[in-house]
Formats: sequence, structure tokens, C-alpha cells
Amino acid sequence: MRRDYLIVGSGLSGAIFAREATRRGKRCLVIEKRKQAGGNIRCENREGINVHLYGAHIFHTSQREVWDYVTRLVPFNHFVNSPLANYRGRLFNLPFNMNTFYQLWGCVTPGEARAKIARQIEEAAITGQPANLEEQALALCGRDIYTCLIKEYTEKQWGRDATALPPEIIRRVPLRYTFDNNYFNDTCQGIPVGGYNPLVAKLLEGVEVWTGCNFFDDRPHLEGLADKILYTGRVDEFFDNRLGALEYRSLHFEQQLLDQPDFQGNAVVNYTSREVPYTRIIEHKHFEFGAQPRTVITREYPHEYSQDHEPYYPVNDARNEALLARYRELASASEQVIFRGRLAEYKYHDMDDTVASILQLVKQEFHE
Ligand SMILES: Cc1cc2nc3c(=O)[nH]c(=O)nc-3n(C[C@H](O)[C@H](O)[C@H](O)COP(=O)(O)OP(=O)(O)OC[C@H]3O[C@@H](n4cnc5c(N)ncnc54)[C@H](O)[C@@H]3O)c2cc1C
Repeated sequence: MRRDYLIVGSGLSGAIFAREATRRGKRCLVIEKRKQAGGNIRCENREGINVHLYGAHIFHTSQREVWDYVTRLVPFNHFVNSPLANYRGRLFNLPFNMNTFYQLWGCVTPGEARAKIARQIEEAAITGQPANLEEQALALCGRDIYTCLIKEYTEKQWGRDATALPPEIIRRVPLRYTFDNNYFNDTCQGIPVGGYNPLVAKLLEGVEVWTGCNFFDDRPHLEGLADKILYTGRVDEFFDNRLGALEYRSLHFEQQLLDQPDFQGNAVVNYTSREVPYTRIIEHKHFEFGAQPRTVITREYPHEYSQDHEPYYPVNDARNEALLARYRELASASEQVIFRGRLAEYKYHDMDDTVASILQLVKQEFHE
């Protein structure tokens, strides 16, 4: 049976498009190389706890249309992300706010905190354009915040010394002079009740999905099954890496089931010192206020990308941007193929931007 669309990838991008096209009477086939659908929002239930398999995912948005869309599909809880930082055994609230300034210096008023930060920026004496990430951060927030909460954490993330990283990585350091630990500034925030799998299931309801099916294992046959393709895999892979491979940063996750009800009392704790090799620990039950007798934690280690690792974060430096521009040219010449999603566009998208982008595509594609 010929389909209207072959959708390569069952992540948020592919699944939303599949739902919307199906609702408009189009026949869709979704193929997914992994064993399960859902892409990076896939969860796994362990001991009644929904474990975020590919990194913690917190839905947050100020786009009303996006929030209405997802909450019409499944209910969301009222989780608010309030991460902590652990620096050599001392705990600090994030994002940098009055609680953090109190923990660092004992400042109790915004005036004291502003004065302290201004003094430290002055002492750093960075004049002219910052030459690297270290100078940039010192110019924006001064010595203490940089040393305890930025320097070693960022070095772990990028695998390079802060003085060897470009200043553009930190465009600004958000400093909040209120006692507000809510990490995001968005108007809406939460986690789907029961994790992300019910959302994926709802999106793919009534859609034909083949899991364990890699597009490149049988490309000519699969291409022949549909009039058009929505491709959400890696753009360089689609073109056989013929211009060279785009670079990524990867992550390694170490999951542990613990025979205790609570490990850290919070969903996310960042480890900002270099002595600890991981960047954060996620305790999954806290995303859904779980009261299970046991708990599951994941230690997250930054990792060099290779073919054996998942491509997580694009490296948007000059080399990769130039290469991407050339792949985009090739992509725009492929009339039957639409390239969307974080891998096909080589762009970090939060989930709300992913939803918005696909809803926009649906409008274009179906002339609405
Ligand atoms: C570590 C991490 C944490 C994040 N945390 C947040 C967060 O807290 N909040 C937030 O809003 N956003 C977060 N995001 C962003 C979020 O993950 C993305 O917005 C979203 O997953 C993008 O969906 P996608 O469908 O474009 O990509 P993906 O979810 O990657 O889906 C692409 C799918 O295509 C499949 N595929 C690829 N190639 C092939 C092939 N050849 N054949 C068949 N299938 C193929 C893949 O297996 C995958 O399932 C995070 C991202 C990362 C990397």
C-alpha cells in the first residue's frame, strides 16, 4: 500500500507530524531505528518510576498555542525545575538568585548582592573584548560565582579549559535579585502525568509504526513506499557524509536503582567541581512527586561523540556552521524530502520550539 508520507524518526517531531497528517486523511508510515518509539523523550518505567532515558526532559514554554496543544493530548503536572549545585560538598540554589548569593556571601538584600557582584566584576579588571570564556564570565559575574558554579562545570561539559573556550558560549550570566529558584522564566511548565510515553502513544494513536527499522538499511525500498518523506535523522548521514561529518557532544548515562526512598531530595543536582567526573545527578521520581519505596538515579557524564554514541548537542562553531550551510543547500534541492527536527536541522531545540516548528510545517504542508 502506498503512503502519502514516510516519516523517518518517531521523536517529538516525527510523532506530531504523523498525528496531524493522519488527522487530515493522509496515510503515514513512521519508521524508527530504535526498539521503541519516542526519540529522546522516551521513558522507561522502573519500580513505578518514569526514568528519562535520554536525559532529563522538563517541558516549559511561554507559547500558549504549544501548551494548549500538548495539554489537550495528556494532562501535565505542576513540576517546577529548581536545580541545586553541589560544589565540593556545599549546596547552592540555581539559577543564580538571592538564595545563591546568601549561600555564597551571606547577603540578605538585593542591594548587598548587587554591590558584592559589582565589586568582584571591577576586581576582575577585564578591559576590552573578553578573549575567552573565562574572561567573559569574570566580566559578567565576578570571581566567586565563576569559580564555584561556572568554571569547572563548563570545562567538564566541553572537555576543554575555560581559557581555551570561545567567549560566545556564555553570552550572559542571568543574575536574579529575588529569592526565586524557578530555573525557567516561562509562563507554563510541567511533566506529563505518567512521563512522556503516554504523550508519544497519543501522538502515534492509529499511525503505522515500524520500530527497529533503520532508513539506511533498506533505503531504496523505503523511499519507494511513499510520495513524500519527513526525515528527522542526521542531515549529514542522509547525504552519506559526502561533505564531511558534523560534530556533536555526547553524553553517557549511568543509571542506578537504589534501595532507599530518596537519594537527594530534588530532581536535578549539578556537580560543579572537577573532582566529580559527572555533571549532574537526576533523581527521576521527583519529576512526578513519587513516593515509591525505592529510587532511580542517573549520573550524567559529558562524552566525546563517536559512532557508538548518541549525537546530543550540535557544536555550532564556524567549521560546523559552514558545513551545515552546504548540507542545507543539498537538502533544499531534495524536493520530495522535508528535513525537520534537531538532527536534520543540526540545531538544539527545546521541546516547545520543536512542537511549534512542526505545527508550522503542518500549516505550510496542508495550506492552512
Ligand atoms: C540531553 C538532552 C536534554 C534535553 N532536555 C530538554 C528539556 O529539559 N526541555 C526541553 O524542552 N527540551 C529538552 N531537550 C530537547 C528535546 O530532546 C528535543 O526538543 C526533542 O527531543 C526533539 O525531537 P526530535 O524528534 O526532533 O528528535 P529526536 O527525539 O532525537 O528524534 C529523532 C528520532 O529519529 C530516529 N532516527 C534517526 N535516524 C534514523 C534512521 N536512519 N532511521 C530510523 N530512525 C532514525 C532516532 O532514533 C530518534 O528516535 C533536551 C535534549 C537533550 C539532548
